[in-house]
Amino acid sequence: MIIAIDGPAASGKSTTAKIVAEKLGFTYLDTGAMYRCVTLAMINAGIHVSNTKQINDLLENISIDLLDKNGKLQIMMNNLDVSDDIRSGKVTENVSAVSALKNVREAMVKMQRNIASKTNCVMEGRDIGTVVFPNAEYKFYLSADSVVRAERRQRDLLALGDEKSIQELIEDINRRDEYDSSREISPLKKAEDAIDINTTDLTIDGQVSKIIEIVNKQKTK
Ligand code: C5P
Repeated sequence: MIIAIDGPAASGKSTTAKIVAEKLGFTYLDTGAMYRCVTLAMINAGIHVSNTKQINDLLENISIDLLDKNGKLQIMMNNLDVSDDIRSGKVTENVSAVSALKNVREAMVKMQRNIASKTNCVMEGRDIGTVVFPNAEYKFYLSADSVVRAERRQRDLLALGDEKSIQELIEDINRRDEYDSSREISPLKKAEDAIDINTTDLTIDGQVSKIIEIVNKQKTK
């Protein structure tokens, strides 16, 4: 079974998806982390987005594993823990351009479908309900006011020791959303049959309960 959770940057997807997965005993898949890994690998190797051949070679050799380490998501790239590195400003600045590339998307979608073929999944991203799993049993689209989203991102970054102003974060979030929504391949958009959840005034518990309630209600039908 697949529960797809899509939405713009910092709309509450990751936290919500992770807890929903824990409560249901499903695997949690953060697909944004996968695109961030490819971006980090390209930065480390000095590969430009225009160099298709080098990117293809990189995609053939990259390994990405999302592990559950005592309830915390650990992101491994080529057997190295990159959980913090993939959240750096440099990766965040470049990830939208990398994830707009056809070869990158094809490789990531293949990995995502492969993981989901083995286990029940709560999969979170931008195109899960529209492209990766258009037939997912449950689809949710999370959104929130951009100031609230910037405040949430500010708290997340502070926990990593990175201080940014709300204005800077609003600009970053808007720039990324604009890029992600207007790209040609698999743009960020709500699947027609996805359930909209506006998280602006919701607590994490509230977001989680809403989803669990809908899943349980439909399961018993
Ligand atoms: O979710 P997160 O903000 O970490 O995602 C980082 C970036 O990865 C997004 O801004 C988007 O460019 C890309 N992404 C994507 N498709 C997904 C998940 C993320 O293009 N399914």
